[in-house]
Amino acid sequence: MLTQFSITNYPTSIKPTQEFCVEGYFLFPNAYTIKSSFPVEIETKDKITLFNKYDVFAKVICFKPTTLLPESKQYTLNLSYLNFPNPTVFQKDLTITTQEYPDIMDVRFTEEINNNQILEFSIDYSGNHLNYFINLEDYEAPCNQESSTILCDISSLSLIQGYDYDLKLVSKYNGVLIKELKIIPVQIRTAVQIEKSSIKNKSVLQDKNIYEIDITLNKEILNTYNISIRDDSDGEVKLESSVVGNLLAIYPKEEFKQNTTYYLKLNDLTGLDGSTLANEYVLEFSIDDGPKISWTNISNSFSTSGNIVLAFNQDIKNPQNIKNYVKIDSSTNYSYSIYKNQVTINPSSSLGFCKKYTVSLAKGLVSNTGLIASSGATYSLKTTCKRTVSIGTSVQGRSIYAYYLGSGSKKIVFFGSMHGSEANTKTLLNKWVTELENNTDRIPSDKTIIVIPTLNPDGIANLSRFNAHGVDLNRNFDTPSWVTGTYLKTDFYPTGGGSAPFSEPESKDIRDLLYRESPYLTLSYHSAAGYVIPTNSSSAISKAYSYSQLSGYTYVNPGAEGSFSYDITGTFEEWAEGRGYNALVVELSSAYYDQFLQNSRAMWKMVEQ
Ligand SMILES: [Zn+2]
Repeated sequence: MLTQFSITNYPTSIKPTQEFCVEGYFLFPNAYTIKSSFPVEIETKDKITLFNKYDVFAKVICFKPTTLLPESKQYTLNLSYLNFPNPTVFQKDLTITTQEYPDIMDVRFTEEINNNQILEFSIDYSGNHLNYFINLEDYEAPCNQESSTILCDISSLSLIQGYDYDLKLVSKYNGVLIKELKIIPVQIRTAVQIEKSSIKNKSVLQDKNIYEIDITLNKEILNTYNISIRDDSDGEVKLESSVVGNLLAIYPKEEFKQNTTYYLKLNDLTGLDGSTLANEYVLEFSIDDGPKISWTNISNSFSTSGNIVLAFNQDIKNPQNIKNYVKIDSSTNYSYSIYKNQVTINPSSSLGFCKKYTVSLAKGLVSNTGLIASSGATYSLKTTCKRTVSIGTSVQGRSIYAYYLGSGSKKIVFFGSMHGSEANTKTLLNKWVTELENNTDRIPSDKTIIVIPTLNPDGIANLSRFNAHGVDLNRNFDTPSWVTGTYLKTDFYPTGGGSAPFSEPESKDIRDLLYRESPYLTLSYHSAAGYVIPTNSSSAISKAYSYSQLSGYTYVNPGAEGSFSYDITGTFEEWAEGRGYNALVVELSSAYYDQFLQNSRAMWKMVEQ
């Protein structure tokens, strides 16, 4: 018979996730009806069973809630026997209160953790129904529960090494948040990083034999990792490797191939502190192709007595027979020397004047590390067509050079830098010499072109309009107007015209050149008034017109210098006119730029017409 005295012990307070038991003396326990305001499974224990079949007596009835119970709430559990109608005798109400849900007791890790770590917590009691998770914003890592220990593998959160996070430990029931147990600030340890490698990324190596590649890491690492070196067609290079502290040494066990790119890949590297390599490390490097010419002095104006220099992008094996690879045409004999990356070819006899040659390099040349040139190269060499003549010497002993191109009987003279402060005329005329050298076929056969870029080398050297005697060369010519004292605007120079007409070597030198060569036209370059002014002859005037049209400089009538506000005396142009020479004064319109492009068309016109 069930009476209130049959129950000897029951919990007035239960944990909402745990089973609980009622102790007493229960006859024929299967005949009980248990009414519960929450769903439970029932199990009887400490039983006496007859014939292995009939439970006749039990001392314990245990109740296991099949759903999560609310926390801190009262329940009534009603036990009745055979639904007997008399509640006072055959029924018993047990009033039970649920406790709070489990809370965190202990965090069993330090603030600094790895992003693949399993975080361990303890809770104050274990139970069913509740699941635990680590939450980070919208991401969630599930935890396992082993009695009152919660283990959370956070690797699925993909936390970034070196960053700080606030992780949240929560409990859930059927996917619904029950409780936020704790916010845990953590610092994820910095990743394993490559600090340097003995081969720089994307470097081009000029050696097929690499015996060791060292990779230095920011921290000590475990001796477990994946490493490979493959070429661009996925061929793998045999290698060995070893770790000492934070140094990973890789020993390739075979020769690399020239003209091939390799990728060293490193994965699954772990620091002693448990941190990992954030991303696959890839070191790209290439083995160079064989020697290639990186520079040569071969030009369009090569000296007939010059040595040909071939500089390569890598050092050249020495000795080796260069004559197997380098030919000048097919017949020019030469000696040679090798120094580091440079091969110097010394022709046995002078090259012909103003002549074209072909310098060819065949494949096969060997570098000092054994790389073999896989391709050749061909260069066109033209020996200089200009004859260089010193027409005299300046006050300070500098040579005044004239360059002759062409060999016709009709001669034209270009000269510049009569005023040393007008150095852009020198630059212009040097470019004009190069232009002529590069286009010798264009020089008419009946013409000789004489170019003197620097009539006043002392003035150029001293950044002065005047020569080294302080004489304005363009006031030193023997003309009716010549005087020793000259003006430049309002400045008076007592000896600007020189001590006498042609007292200066530079003015004499250009005078004598004109005496010798009797040019059909002479052009004297100045800057920066931007005009062209001819001597007073129909030939010079028509040439000045076309120079003006092609250059854009203003045409100015002969003798217009007389209209200047100050006296201009003893000039080259006055002298030239008096001697019957056709001459143009060309004033560039810039004091700085050589204006080569706008002058070259006009200069060619002067030569070709
Ligand atoms: Zn000038």
